[in-house]
Amino acid sequence: MANEIVGRFAPAPTGPLHLGSLVAAVGSYLFARAAGGRWLVRIEDLDTPRAVPGADGEILEALDRYGLVWDGDPQYQSRRTPLYDAALALLRASGSVFDCGCSRSDLQRAGSAPLAADSGGLVYPGTCRHGLPAGKEARAVRFRVDREIIAFDDLVHGRVEEDLSSITGDFVIKRADGQFAYQLAVVVDDAEQSITQVVRGADLLRSTPRQIALQRALGYRTPQYAHLPLVVGADGSKAGKRDRALSLPTLDRDRVAATLTRALRILGIERVRPAEPAEMLQEALTRFAVESIPRGNAVIR
Ligand code: GLU
Repeated sequence: MANEIVGRFAPAPTGPLHLGSLVAAVGSYLFARAAGGRWLVRIEDLDTPRAVPGADGEILEALDRYGLVWDGDPQYQSRRTPLYDAALALLRASGSVFDCGCSRSDLQRAGSAPLAADSGGLVYPGTCRHGLPAGKEARAVRFRVDREIIAFDDLVHGRVEEDLSSITGDFVIKRADGQFAYQLAVVVDDAEQSITQVVRGADLLRSTPRQIALQRALGYRTPQYAHLPLVVGADGSKAGKRDRALSLPTLDRDRVAATLTRALRILGIERVRPAEPAEMLQEALTRFAVESIPRGNAVIR
C-alpha cells in the first residue's frame, strides 16, 4: 500500500536491551501502531568488533517479554552488504563520494575544529576532496558535503537546521576497516524497507541531517523523524548498556510491568495500569500523544 505507515526499531547488538533502548522500542512501536502501521525490527550488526554474540537473541526475547510484537522477520545489516555496495556504486557514479587517505592523526595535525562528537570530533578539512595527494593511499570513503542548510521538522523537537560543512564536513560512509558506516547503512535500509517514520533516541537527532543529505543524493524519500528522550545518568551521560541500574528484569512479571510503566512515563504516558505487557501497551496506545513526549532527557539517579 502506497500510504502505509512503517516504523522500525533498530538496535545494535552490543548488549541486552536496557531502559534507554526499551524507551526507543516502545516509542517507535506506539508511533507505528497508533497510526495503524507496521513495525519492523532491524539488528544493526555492522560494527562487528562491538557486536556481542547472542545479544541479538536476547534483545528479541526481551521485546517479546515486553509485548512488543514485530512484523515480518528481523533483518540483519550484516546480511545486507550487497545493498550498501550498490548504493556506494551509485554515489560514486554521481561523483558524490571520494576516497580519503587521511588517518586520524593526519586530521588532528591538520587542526580541524573539534565539533560534532559523533563525527569523530573533527570537521574534515577537505584534504582529499580533489583527489588523493601524492603518497597517500585510499583508506575510507567520504561523502561530499556542500555548504547548505539541511532542515527538517522533527515531530518532537520541531525545526532542526544544520550546515553540515561546519559540523562534520565530508563524512565517512565506508570506514578504513572496510565496514560501511552507520550513516550509509541506515539510510539504505530505511529506504529499502520502505520505512516512513524513524523514531529513535535523541542522541541521533544530529545525525539526521547527514542522513537526509544521503537520501537526497540517492534519490530516496525522507521519512518523518521523531527523537525520543534519552535516559541519562545524573551527570548527563547517556546511560550505557552496562549500567546495572538500567538493566531490565528478565523473569519477574511484576517487575516487567513496573519497568514498562517507567518507560511509558518517560514517553509522557502516565498511569497505565500494571497488567500483562500486551494489555499495558494496548492501553498506552489509546493515550499516546506526540505532544506529550518530553523534549528533555530522562535523568535516572
Ligand atoms: N543502531 C542504532 C543504535 O542502536 C540506532 C539507529 C537508528 O535508530 O537509526 O543506537
